[in-house]
Amino acid sequence: MLSNKFAQYLVNNQIFELEMVEKAEQKMEEYGGNSASALARVLEIELGAPHDKVYEALSIHYAFPVYKKALEEIPEAQIEASKQILESMRRGSDESFKRKLLFHKILPFGFQKGGRDVLKVLTIDPTNKVIQEISSNTQYKRLEVYWAPLKTVEDLINKIAPQKNEFLQLLEEAGMVVTDAPEDDEETQILDEQALDDEINKSLLVNLFEGCLIEAVRKDASDIHIIPNGKSAVDLFMRIDGKLQLWLRQENTAPEALAAVVKDRSTGVDRFERDTAQDGFAQRSVDGHLIRFRISILPIVSQEYERRFESVVIRVIDDRKVITDFRKLGFQEQAEKEFLKSINTSKGIVIVTGPTGSGKSTTLMAALHHVIHPGVNVLTCEDPVEYVIHGARQLKIGHKMSFDQAIRSILRHDPDIVMVGEIRDKITAETAVKLANTGHLTFSTLHTNDAPSAISRLYKMGIETFLLAYSINIIIAQRLVRKLCVNCRRPISKEHWETAKQLGLTQEELESGSIYEAVGCPKCHNGYKGRTNVAEALYFYPEIKQEIVQSVSDIDEERIRKIAEKHGMLSMRDSGIARMREGLTDLAEVLYVTAED
Ligand SMILES: [Zn+2]
Repeated sequence: MLSNKFAQYLVNNQIFELEMVEKAEQKMEEYGGNSASALARVLEIELGAPHDKVYEALSIHYAFPVYKKALEEIPEAQIEASKQILESMRRGSDESFKRKLLFHKILPFGFQKGGRDVLKVLTIDPTNKVIQEISSNTQYKRLEVYWAPLKTVEDLINKIAPQKNEFLQLLEEAGMVVTDAPEDDEETQILDEQALDDEINKSLLVNLFEGCLIEAVRKDASDIHIIPNGKSAVDLFMRIDGKLQLWLRQENTAPEALAAVVKDRSTGVDRFERDTAQDGFAQRSVDGHLIRFRISILPIVSQEYERRFESVVIRVIDDRKVITDFRKLGFQEQAEKEFLKSINTSKGIVIVTGPTGSGKSTTLMAALHHVIHPGVNVLTCEDPVEYVIHGARQLKIGHKMSFDQAIRSILRHDPDIVMVGEIRDKITAETAVKLANTGHLTFSTLHTNDAPSAISRLYKMGIETFLLAYSINIIIAQRLVRKLCVNCRRPISKEHWETAKQLGLTQEELESGSIYEAVGCPKCHNGYKGRTNVAEALYFYPEIKQEIVQSVSDIDEERIRKIAEKHGMLSMRDSGIARMREGLTDLAEVLYVTAED
């Protein structure tokens, strides 16, 4: 039984089939709503019913007058009147409210016969609450609301107040060029769908999305975040040097619309799916370089029950950023020496550990490039593949071959050097150990805060101490700290001396003026520019191996740390302090990345 009166009306008047209306009612109730306008929205947005069919019925149901005329049938005088009312709104210094009305496809349309104070309004949805805001935002207190078909209202708005492409203007100001999809004049038989696609291609949101991809590459951003900000705005952030920065707030845009454009223009995602996590991919040529983008889409909660919001994060994969020269990673002296010793050998495991965004893959890539040559079979197994590595065979993880299957097959594929994206469970850990013990050099990553705890993690995954001790060459724990801008950095201010001394800096060092802090200038982001690593490199000296083998029930991380430090290992924090002494970074950065120690 249908509970909603509008639902009953739709069925009784044979506007929609009972089955469809029932489905709409059910969905509406899932969202916790029950009103005619909520049902209309579900019918249109969720079930794909034609807009005009739904809203004409809704208007008649609510007894709103209907204005059904094509643009050509509308008298010029009427259009002129509408234009004048809109212009008077602009003079009323309320440009943004005018834009809001037009965005919602609400158009003042002259005065009701018999009195200048009754404003006629055309709209595609008479139940839209924005209409009620007219009386509080303008001098017009009494309204007569008419429903009109979508095309009529859009045509009128395009004629009266053609929309400016604000983003293109922004792009032009920034000296960028975004071109529309080329028009194909020779193609005469254009399908409706094709025409629709062209329309989408030309839209502002496409330019916004495409412009954003280009900007991200040029700004050297690692990620783009596209996040709904309320019902009609979207925030675009870029992660630059590890920090999210608001790049643009796009007003008057339904978040769903931009999400749809993102999906439309990437591969591997379903445009109509809005309830599950999706991973897509895009590839663009930016300034003559092929750049790849990995796109992650997740549904998120919105306060508007009938809206389905999604958060979009785009990883920028720019192969030019791959450091192929190991020494350019800039590890500190002893760490670099021991790291090189660990990879210039034919077997053993090299582990890079740290949280997400700590530069693990950059380090692994450089290490891998250091050892690749035509005489060896280099296999990589990662999900997803980040960078394309020349000279390596990178296994393709997907529907047909899972990460686990790939791991199990590696040994049978005659490798010399293997990179396993991440040791995530006992199977991967055992495979890495087996590879190492059968004469293969193996690279991998882990998610632990420091080097000694990586040993504990592997032990807890079920790897025996003896195997751990004799298969691992080195464990590098690393973080990235932002580098001070040399243009504006200044000696650390006195109020921070106390904290600096607690870290181990001396009074003399602080007084010498060679320890700096961030300031900020036009050449940098808040006083920082670029990043460098701080690292704890735990080389497996015989004494370390012995300590691990002797572990009884648990790995004694502290003892291992002590032994390593005796051999000259810098802890993460000491590595950071060394970076401060080099003038590369400041106290705030070092404290930030070593906070958990
Ligand atoms: Zn600066």
